[in-house]
Amino acid sequence: MVAKVIDGRAVARQVREECRVLTAGLVARGVTPGLAVVIVGDDPASKVYVANKVKACTEVGLHSKVYAFPADTPDTVVEAEIHRLNADPAVHGILVQLPLPAHYDGPRVLAAISSDKDVDGFHLYNVGALVQGETLFPPCTPFGVQKMLEYENIPIEGQNVVVVGASNIVGKPMALMLMRKDATVCICHAKTRDLAQFTILADILVVAAGRPNLILPQMVRTGAVVIDVGINRLPDGRLVGDVDFEGVRQKASYISPVPGGVGPMTVTMLVHNTVMAAQRAAAAG
Ligand code: NAP
Repeated sequence: MVAKVIDGRAVARQVREECRVLTAGLVARGVTPGLAVVIVGDDPASKVYVANKVKACTEVGLHSKVYAFPADTPDTVVEAEIHRLNADPAVHGILVQLPLPAHYDGPRVLAAISSDKDVDGFHLYNVGALVQGETLFPPCTPFGVQKMLEYENIPIEGQNVVVVGASNIVGKPMALMLMRKDATVCICHAKTRDLAQFTILADILVVAAGRPNLILPQMVRTGAVVIDVGINRLPDGRLVGDVDFEGVRQKASYISPVPGGVGPMTVTMLVHNTVMAAQRAAAAG
């Protein structure tokens, strides 16, 4: 069996087109969806991510603005800016680019974002809502994975899902979202003993550990769906995921590549969440 490669760029294009149509409708009613991006410090990778987010918003017709602060800015100043953005009706979504400087109280800064504008879905209210089954803003990366599965008409209900990685931004919300779709979900992490005994059971294997070549063909059931969230830069400059793509491809039914898989979906779901926030604000009048 050779897996079908899931084209994340194609799925992203479709979702962005849907967002473009919704945005045009909102603009016609006098509401331009607006995203505020807060970035603190000058981490080069963060700057690239922020530039990509702004570009994606512009392409779809959203308004976006970056609020950049030097790394030595007190977190209270950033929080005050977030409170100002919370009150600004032209801003429908607020995102704080992570990581924040080490001296910041990160959870407190994120908690300052109004839960109605928390388009990254990291506010405790939205995390709690996700645990209960419904959230305004599903976190963008796992939401992107779910959209990819839906795009390929891959059934989720009743499937054995194994999520490798248990972070707050990918692994845990991914597990909760697929549980909500009635999958049977198992989460593995760095201290899981004998990872392969779990991954081999997966009908759908989602890997988000940040370890190149963590998942080898012998760890994957024949016919499994394998979604690789990992992004790793090798010493020779190549960008790879967590899965041995060429090996696992010979065994899986579907596989997502890196690059060109989950990556384009993350920024797309941020645009989607911002358009949804603007729609809700417009409906509330
Ligand atoms: P993270 O916060 O570092 O979490 C990594 C998780 O993987 C942790 O739960 C860790 O376990 C687990 N892990 C590490 N080594 C493992 C191993 N050998 N076996 C099993 N589990 C292991 O990372 P993250 O933010 O979730 O990101 C994970 C990867 O996805 C990274 O490569 C990141 O660049 C990528 N990513 C991609 C996108 C995208 O848009 N495509 C978005 C976000 C992240 P413990 O909890 O026990 O430490």
